[in-house]
Amino acid sequence: MNDYFEIGPIRPPSEAQSLLLRVTRNCPWNKCEFCHTYKGELFSFRTVEEIKKDIDGVKGIVDEIRHRSWSMGFAGETSQDFLRTFFRQTGGYGHAFQSVAGWLYFGGTQAFLQDANSLLVKTTELVEILHYLHEKLPSISRITSYARARTLAKKSVSELKELRAAGLSRIHIGMETGYDPLLQYMKKGVTAKEQIQGGRNVVESGISLSEYVMPGLGGKRWSREHATETARVLNEINPDFIRLRSLYVRPNMPLFSKVESGEFVRLSDDEVASEIKLFITSLNGIQSTLVSDHILNLLEEVEGKLPEDREKMIGVIDRYLALPAEERLLYRVGRRLGYYRSLVELQDLPLRARIGKMIEEVRHSLNREGDPLSEEIEREIYRLMENYI
Ligand code: SF4
Repeated sequence: MNDYFEIGPIRPPSEAQSLLLRVTRNCPWNKCEFCHTYKGELFSFRTVEEIKKDIDGVKGIVDEIRHRSWSMGFAGETSQDFLRTFFRQTGGYGHAFQSVAGWLYFGGTQAFLQDANSLLVKTTELVEILHYLHEKLPSISRITSYARARTLAKKSVSELKELRAAGLSRIHIGMETGYDPLLQYMKKGVTAKEQIQGGRNVVESGISLSEYVMPGLGGKRWSREHATETARVLNEINPDFIRLRSLYVRPNMPLFSKVESGEFVRLSDDEVASEIKLFITSLNGIQSTLVSDHILNLLEEVEGKLPEDREKMIGVIDRYLALPAEERLLYRVGRRLGYYRSLVELQDLPLRARIGKMIEEVRHSLNREGDPLSEEIEREIYRLMENYI
C-alpha cells in the first residue's frame, strides 16, 4: 500500500476538516512583505501523475482504515473510540495516515488544494485532477483552494465555470487590502483593479468566493485609506465571504526590519478595532458574510451577514472600545492567552482573577505596577500572539 502523500504547510482556518492535497508547491510570487510562509522555498508545479498517485495513496489509507474498523468490530466507522483503539494497537503510523484518519473522523467530505495558487495549473489539468479526486474519493462534496487575484483576473469565466462543473466549490483569495499604494508598499504584486476583475470572474462563474482582509496592514500611516479602499473594492466584488486575519509581524517577515527601523508603525489593538469599525461602516450594497475566524483577531464576535448584521458587529466593537483601559487590557491578555472568545467572558470571575494576577506579575517583573499601557507591556502582549502563527 502506498501510504505516503505530500502535504504543504498551510490551509485557511475554515479548512481544518479538509483533506490537504498538494497540487503545486509553495508560492509563485513569494514577495509579500508580511508573509513568511514560503520564504526561501521555490515554486514548482506537480505533475498530474504525481497528484493522482497521492490521491491513490489517500484512497489506500482510507480502505485500510475502513477494513480495520470492520475487523475490529466498529462496522466501518471512524469514530473517536475506533481511532483511539486503532492507533493504540498499531502504534500510530505516520503523518499521512493520521491526517487521513482525522479527515475521516470529520466526515471525509471536504478537500483543500494546496499551496498558494493552484489556479496557475492549466484548466484542463485541474479538471482532470478534480474528476480523479471525485472518482477515487466519492465522499468528497466540497473542494476549495487558495488563488491569487491576478491569476483569476486572467482566467476566463468559462474556464472557471469548467472548474466549478468539475467540483471546485470555493476559492480563497488573500486580498489583504484594496488600497493601491499599500499593495505596492507590501509588494503584493496585484492592483485593486486586478482584484476587482479576479473577484468578479469567480463570482460570475458561480464558485463561492472568500476574500481575506488584513486589519492593521496599513499601519498608522494608511489605516484610514486601507479601511475605506478595501471596502470599496469589496463593494465592487460582492464576495460570499469576507474573512478578517489581523496583521502580526514576526522576525522572519521582510516587514519586520521596517518595524524595527520605525518606517512602519504598527497599530495598537484598539486602533485596529477602530479600523475594522470604519471598514464595516464602508461596506455597502453587498450581501457578504463577514467572518472573524482567525485566532489573531481580537474580537472574534465581529461576525455576521451584511447588511442586516452591520449594527450588531459595530456594537461589539463599540462595547469593547467603551470599556475602561484596565478592562480592555484584561480582555486583550485573556484573548492572547487563548482564554477569551467573547466580551461577555470578562464576567467569569475566577478567570478574571487568574488573568489579573498574570498581568500584575508581568508588571511587577517590569517594575511597571499600576501602569496599564506601557510599551513593555504592549510588547509582552504582542509576543503572546506568536504562539498562534
Ligand atoms: S501571494 Fe500569498 S503566499 Fe505568496 S508571498 Fe504573498 S501572501 Fe505569501
